[in-house]
Amino acid sequence: MDTTSLTGKELAAALNADTKQRAAALTDGGTAPRLVLVVANDDPASGWYVKSLQRAAERLGISCDTVDLGAEASAEAIRTELTKLSADPAVDAVMLQTPLPAGVALADVASAIVAAKDVDGVSPHSLGLLATGLPGFPPATSQAVVALAKHHGIPLAGQHVAIVGQSNVVGKPLAQLLLAENATVTVCHSRTTDLPAVTSAADVVVAAAGRAGLITERHIHKGAVLIDVGTNEGPDGSIVGDVDAESVQGKAAALSPVPGGVGPVTTALLMRHVVQAAEAARS
Ligand code: NAP
Repeated sequence: MDTTSLTGKELAAALNADTKQRAAALTDGGTAPRLVLVVANDDPASGWYVKSLQRAAERLGISCDTVDLGAEASAEAIRTELTKLSADPAVDAVMLQTPLPAGVALADVASAIVAAKDVDGVSPHSLGLLATGLPGFPPATSQAVVALAKHHGIPLAGQHVAIVGQSNVVGKPLAQLLLAENATVTVCHSRTTDLPAVTSAADVVVAAAGRAGLITERHIHKGAVLIDVGTNEGPDGSIVGDVDAESVQGKAAALSPVPGGVGPVTTALLMRHVVQAAEAARS
């Protein structure tokens, strides 16, 4: 069996073409959509991600600024900045980067981002909207997993999907989005007893643990679909996923590559959210 590569580049390009047009229409109407990234760390991976978001925004005609509060910022300072940006009519969208300073909880400070500008769906309010099926912005990475599966014609309704990872940023919101697609969802984590037995029972396995090479051919049944959310630094400094791609070749029906799978769709969806937030603010 050949393992199909679930690339995200085509879908991202289609989403970006639409976003670019909508951003241009907003700019023609008076003001470009504006995203502000709030950073409170000196983490190199976060710095790289911020630069890639700035480049993506620039390509699409979205204005993107960064507010750097420093790696020692207090929860209060972060909340104050997020409250200010939430109230600023010149700002359409706010994204808080992780990691946060030690002792600062994401859910605690993210509650200061108003839902209408919370384009990565990190605030408890946004997560509540998602859980109850009300309109709001879902976290872009989780949304990208579902969008990528649909784009490649992977059925979800009635299918058993196992998610490896239960974070508030990826695993939990993804479980909500998959339930909304009528999938049967199992969420695994580091305390799951016999992970290979649980994931081998699933039709689709989503790896979101942040552990390079965690998922191998032992973790899937023949013909399962694998979606790899993981972005880890490989031994040579390159980016690698959570799936040992070599080991599952020929056993998995399909696997999303890292890089080039979930990542580009995530960025494209984030930028689309910025334009949606700007459109809503001007209507
Ligand atoms: P996280 O907050 O560290 O959460 C990791 C989750 O994986 C936790 O629930 C943890 O379980 C579980 N886990 C860790 N080791 C495990 C193991 N050996 N077996 C089973 N479960 C295990 O990470 P995150 O923020 O959700 O990110 C996950 C990955 O996605 C990272 O590689 C991150 O870089 C990547 N990511 C990618 C994108 C993208 O756009 N492609 C966006 C965001 C994140 P416990 O809860 O029991 O600790």
